[in-house]
Amino acid sequence: MTGPALIRPAPPRMLRASVIASTWALPRGAVRNRYRQELLAELHASAPQDRTGYTVGVVTHAWGLRRAVKDDEPVAKETTMRTKPLTCRLNLHHVWHTYSTDDGTRYLKCARCGKEYTRGGSSGMTYAGGG
Ligand SMILES: [Zn+2]
Repeated sequence: MTGPALIRPAPPRMLRASVIASTWALPRGAVRNRYRQELLAELHASAPQDRTGYTVGVVTHAWGLRRAVKDDEPVAKETTMRTKPLTCRLNLHHVWHTYSTDDGTRYLKCARCGKEYTRGGSSGMTYAGGG
């Protein structure tokens, strides 16, 4: 690993613009900026003949990256809390318990993830009672 660092020519404007556009799907702010910088750096570092394929990959996976980033956000904010069970995150199965507000109004809330039941908003109900 000796020798000078390989300096590549800048990628074509169209590829850079496509990579930047793909990050618009991400939440605005620091997360979007960080991914944008990383993806552009990888584009710059890739061999010129690989850049078009790299850009197509970034663009076609933009929505998947968005979902992964958005799924990660609550975990990062609540690192001391248990993580949500997968069936809750996919909204396939919740364990509903009955709770009461201060004024006595009763409502259903998942005992595992804290999601409140809204009529027609969930499939896979398990009613566990309690209060
Ligand atoms: Zn749940």
